Amino acid sequence: MSKVSENIVKAEEGEVFDIELEKDVLEANRKLAEKNRELLKDKAITAIDVMGSIGAGKTSLIANLVQLLRKNYRIAVFKGDLTTTIDAEIIKRYGVEVVAINTGKECHLDSNLVMKALQKLNLDAIDLLLIENVGNLICPAEFPLGSDRRVVVVSVTEGPYMVIKHPFIFMDADVVVINKADLAKAMQVDMHKLKNDVKKVNPEAKVVFTNCRSGEGVSAVSKALDL
Ligand code: MG
Ligand code: ZN
Repeated sequence: MSKVSENIVKAEEGEVFDIELEKDVLEANRKLAEKNRELLKDKAITAIDVMGSIGAGKTSLIANLVQLLRKNYRIAVFKGDLTTTIDAEIIKRYGVEVVAINTGKECHLDSNLVMKALQKLNLDAIDLLLIENVGNLICPAEFPLGSDRRVVVVSVTEGPYMVIKHPFIFMDADVVVINKADLAKAMQVDMHKLKNDVKKVNPEAKVVFTNCRSGEGVSAVSKALDL
Protein backbone atom coordinates (compact mmCIF):
# COMPACT_ATOMS: atom_id res chain seq x y z
CA MET A 1 0.00 0.00 0.00
CA SER A 2 1.29 3.47 -0.89
CA LYS A 3 1.68 6.25 1.64
CA VAL A 4 -1.37 8.48 2.08
CA SER A 5 0.75 11.55 1.45
CA GLU A 6 1.73 10.28 -2.00
CA ASN A 7 -1.74 9.35 -3.11
CA ILE A 8 -4.01 12.35 -2.66
CA VAL A 9 -6.90 13.43 -4.86
CA LYS A 10 -6.76 17.23 -5.08
CA ALA A 11 -9.39 19.61 -6.45
CA GLU A 12 -7.71 21.49 -9.31
CA GLU A 13 -8.16 25.23 -9.70
CA GLY A 14 -11.45 25.77 -11.57
CA GLU A 15 -12.48 22.16 -11.17
CA VAL A 16 -14.55 22.78 -8.09
CA PHE A 17 -18.10 23.37 -9.23
CA ASP A 18 -18.98 27.06 -9.26
CA ILE A 19 -21.57 28.15 -6.73
CA GLU A 20 -23.10 30.72 -9.13
CA LEU A 21 -24.12 27.93 -11.46
CA GLU A 22 -25.93 26.33 -8.60
CA LYS A 23 -28.70 24.52 -10.46
CA ASP A 24 -26.39 23.13 -13.15
CA VAL A 25 -23.84 22.24 -10.53
CA LEU A 26 -26.27 20.23 -8.47
CA GLU A 27 -27.57 18.54 -11.60
CA ALA A 28 -24.05 17.71 -12.84
CA ASN A 29 -23.17 16.39 -9.41
CA ARG A 30 -26.26 14.20 -9.31
CA LYS A 31 -25.48 12.69 -12.71
CA LEU A 32 -21.94 11.81 -11.69
CA ALA A 33 -23.25 10.43 -8.41
CA GLU A 34 -25.41 8.02 -10.42
CA LYS A 35 -22.33 6.93 -12.36
CA ASN A 36 -20.49 6.29 -9.10
CA ARG A 37 -23.49 4.34 -7.84
CA GLU A 38 -23.53 2.17 -10.96
CA LEU A 39 -19.79 1.52 -10.80
CA LEU A 40 -19.97 0.59 -7.12
CA LYS A 41 -22.93 -1.68 -7.73
CA ASP A 42 -21.12 -3.29 -10.62
CA LYS A 43 -18.16 -4.03 -8.37
CA ALA A 44 -20.41 -5.21 -5.51
CA ILE A 45 -19.07 -2.52 -3.18
CA THR A 46 -21.26 -1.18 -0.39
CA ALA A 47 -20.55 2.53 0.02
CA ILE A 48 -21.44 4.57 3.06
CA ASP A 49 -20.80 8.25 3.50
CA VAL A 50 -20.33 9.87 6.86
CA MET A 51 -21.20 13.51 7.39
CA GLY A 52 -21.11 15.81 10.41
CA SER A 53 -19.52 18.94 11.85
CA ILE A 54 -15.84 19.33 12.57
CA GLY A 55 -15.12 17.47 15.80
CA ALA A 56 -18.39 15.50 15.89
CA GLY A 57 -16.49 12.21 15.75
CA LYS A 58 -16.65 11.11 12.10
CA THR A 59 -13.06 9.88 12.06
CA SER A 60 -13.35 8.01 15.34
CA LEU A 61 -16.60 6.40 14.20
CA ILE A 62 -14.89 5.25 11.01
CA ALA A 63 -11.83 4.02 12.92
CA ASN A 64 -14.13 2.00 15.19
CA LEU A 65 -16.14 0.61 12.27
CA VAL A 66 -12.95 -0.40 10.50
CA GLN A 67 -11.73 -2.33 13.54
CA LEU A 68 -15.09 -4.01 13.96
CA LEU A 69 -15.63 -4.92 10.31
CA ARG A 70 -12.23 -5.60 8.79
CA LYS A 71 -12.52 -9.34 9.57
CA ASN A 72 -15.57 -9.56 7.33
CA TYR A 73 -14.96 -6.93 4.68
CA ARG A 74 -12.12 -5.65 2.53
CA ILE A 75 -12.43 -1.98 3.42
CA ALA A 76 -11.30 1.25 1.79
CA VAL A 77 -11.76 4.72 3.26
CA PHE A 78 -11.97 8.05 1.45
CA LYS A 79 -11.12 10.92 3.73
CA GLY A 80 -12.27 14.39 2.68
CA ASP A 81 -10.44 17.37 4.15
CA LEU A 82 -9.47 20.81 2.91
CA THR A 83 -5.70 20.37 2.85
CA THR A 84 -4.52 17.96 5.55
CA THR A 85 -4.04 14.20 5.74
CA ILE A 86 -4.08 13.97 9.56
CA ASP A 87 -7.31 11.95 9.76
CA ALA A 88 -6.32 9.84 6.76
CA GLU A 89 -3.10 8.83 8.52
CA ILE A 90 -5.05 7.94 11.69
CA ILE A 91 -7.32 5.57 9.77
CA LYS A 92 -4.44 4.14 7.75
CA ARG A 93 -2.96 2.78 10.99
CA TYR A 94 -5.74 0.22 11.08
CA GLY A 95 -4.35 -1.39 7.97
CA VAL A 96 -6.97 -0.44 5.40
CA GLU A 97 -6.62 1.31 2.05
CA VAL A 98 -7.07 5.09 2.49
CA VAL A 99 -7.36 7.78 -0.16
CA ALA A 100 -7.18 11.37 1.09
CA ILE A 101 -9.34 13.77 -0.91
CA ASN A 102 -8.23 17.37 -0.47
CA THR A 103 -10.88 19.82 -1.59
CA GLY A 104 -8.75 22.97 -1.27
CA LYS A 105 -11.24 25.64 -0.18
CA GLU A 106 -14.40 23.64 -0.80
CA CYS A 107 -16.43 22.70 2.26
CA HIS A 108 -17.88 19.43 0.94
CA LEU A 109 -17.03 16.42 -1.21
CA ASP A 110 -18.66 16.09 -4.60
CA SER A 111 -19.24 13.14 -6.88
CA ASN A 112 -16.47 14.21 -9.27
CA LEU A 113 -13.83 14.02 -6.53
CA VAL A 114 -15.20 10.68 -5.38
CA MET A 115 -15.03 9.41 -8.95
CA LYS A 116 -11.37 10.45 -9.14
CA ALA A 117 -10.66 8.74 -5.83
CA LEU A 118 -12.35 5.54 -7.07
CA GLN A 119 -9.81 5.48 -9.90
CA LYS A 120 -7.05 5.18 -7.29
CA LEU A 121 -8.39 1.89 -5.92
CA ASN A 122 -8.41 -1.65 -7.16
CA LEU A 123 -12.17 -1.96 -6.95
CA ASP A 124 -12.05 -5.73 -7.30
CA ALA A 125 -10.23 -5.88 -3.97
CA ILE A 126 -12.81 -3.87 -1.99
CA ASP A 127 -16.22 -4.82 -0.51
CA LEU A 128 -16.91 -1.84 1.70
CA LEU A 129 -16.15 1.84 1.10
CA LEU A 130 -16.47 4.36 3.92
CA ILE A 131 -16.38 8.00 2.84
CA GLU A 132 -15.73 10.72 5.41
CA ASN A 133 -17.01 14.04 4.16
CA VAL A 134 -15.50 17.42 5.02
CA GLY A 135 -16.72 18.63 8.44
CA ASN A 136 -19.88 20.54 7.63
CA LEU A 137 -23.61 20.06 8.28
CA ILE A 138 -24.88 22.18 5.43
CA CYS A 139 -23.91 21.57 1.80
CA PRO A 140 -23.00 17.85 1.91
CA ALA A 141 -26.78 17.32 2.08
CA GLU A 142 -27.09 18.68 -1.44
CA PHE A 143 -24.20 16.72 -2.92
CA PRO A 144 -24.98 13.02 -3.13
CA LEU A 145 -21.84 11.00 -3.85
CA GLY A 146 -23.35 7.76 -5.10
CA SER A 147 -23.26 5.91 -1.79
CA ASP A 148 -25.79 3.31 -0.63
CA ARG A 149 -26.37 4.81 2.78
CA ARG A 150 -25.69 8.13 4.47
CA VAL A 151 -24.74 8.60 8.10
CA VAL A 152 -24.80 11.88 10.01
CA VAL A 153 -22.79 12.17 13.22
CA VAL A 154 -23.75 14.84 15.72
CA SER A 155 -22.19 15.12 19.17
CA VAL A 156 -23.79 16.37 22.37
CA THR A 157 -20.90 18.83 22.79
CA GLU A 158 -22.31 20.77 19.84
CA GLY A 159 -25.26 21.77 22.01
CA PRO A 160 -28.98 21.02 21.98
CA TYR A 161 -29.99 22.66 18.70
CA MET A 162 -27.84 21.04 16.03
CA VAL A 163 -30.66 19.00 14.54
CA ILE A 164 -33.30 21.71 14.34
CA LYS A 165 -30.74 24.16 12.95
CA HIS A 166 -29.69 21.82 10.13
CA PRO A 167 -32.81 19.87 9.19
CA PHE A 168 -31.84 19.15 5.58
CA ILE A 169 -28.87 16.97 6.31
CA PHE A 170 -30.90 14.93 8.80
CA MET A 171 -33.81 14.51 6.36
CA ASP A 172 -31.47 12.75 4.05
CA ALA A 173 -29.79 10.44 6.59
CA ASP A 174 -30.35 6.69 6.89
CA VAL A 175 -28.58 6.53 10.22
CA VAL A 176 -27.98 9.34 12.72
CA VAL A 177 -25.27 8.80 15.31
CA ILE A 178 -25.51 10.89 18.48
CA ASN A 179 -21.94 10.77 19.75
CA LYS A 180 -20.15 11.62 23.01
CA ALA A 181 -23.19 10.28 24.87
CA ASP A 182 -21.00 10.00 27.98
CA LEU A 183 -20.74 13.81 28.05
CA ALA A 184 -24.48 14.53 27.75
CA LYS A 185 -24.95 15.14 31.45
CA ALA A 186 -21.96 17.46 31.76
CA MET A 187 -23.12 19.35 28.67
CA GLN A 188 -26.70 19.45 29.99
CA VAL A 189 -27.91 18.20 26.64
CA ASP A 190 -30.90 15.87 26.51
CA MET A 191 -29.96 13.15 24.01
CA HIS A 192 -33.52 11.91 23.75
CA LYS A 193 -34.65 15.39 22.75
CA LEU A 194 -31.99 15.32 20.00
CA LYS A 195 -33.30 11.94 18.90
CA ASN A 196 -36.87 13.27 18.83
CA ASP A 197 -35.70 16.23 16.75
CA VAL A 198 -34.27 13.77 14.22
CA LYS A 199 -37.45 11.68 14.20
CA LYS A 200 -39.54 14.81 13.57
CA VAL A 201 -37.73 15.63 10.33
CA ASN A 202 -37.00 12.03 9.34
CA PRO A 203 -39.16 9.34 10.96
CA GLU A 204 -37.36 6.61 8.95
CA ALA A 205 -33.88 7.42 10.27
CA LYS A 206 -32.29 4.97 12.68
CA VAL A 207 -30.80 6.83 15.64
CA VAL A 208 -27.92 5.36 17.65
CA PHE A 209 -26.19 6.76 20.76
CA THR A 210 -22.44 6.23 20.84
CA ASN A 211 -19.25 6.98 22.66
CA CYS A 212 -16.72 6.56 19.89
CA ARG A 213 -13.85 7.01 22.34
CA SER A 214 -14.72 3.81 24.21
CA GLY A 215 -16.37 2.16 21.21
CA GLU A 216 -19.74 1.94 22.94
CA GLY A 217 -22.64 1.80 20.49
CA VAL A 218 -20.48 1.21 17.43
CA SER A 219 -21.77 -2.31 16.84
CA ALA A 220 -25.30 -0.88 16.96
CA VAL A 221 -24.28 1.57 14.23
CA SER A 222 -22.96 -1.31 12.17
CA LYS A 223 -26.27 -3.15 12.62
CA ALA A 224 -28.26 -0.04 11.73
CA LEU A 225 -26.25 0.07 8.50
CA ASP A 226 -27.04 -3.61 7.79
CA LEU A 227 -23.32 -4.48 7.81
MG1 MG B 1 -12.39 13.83 11.03
ZN1 ZN C 1 -19.75 23.08 0.76
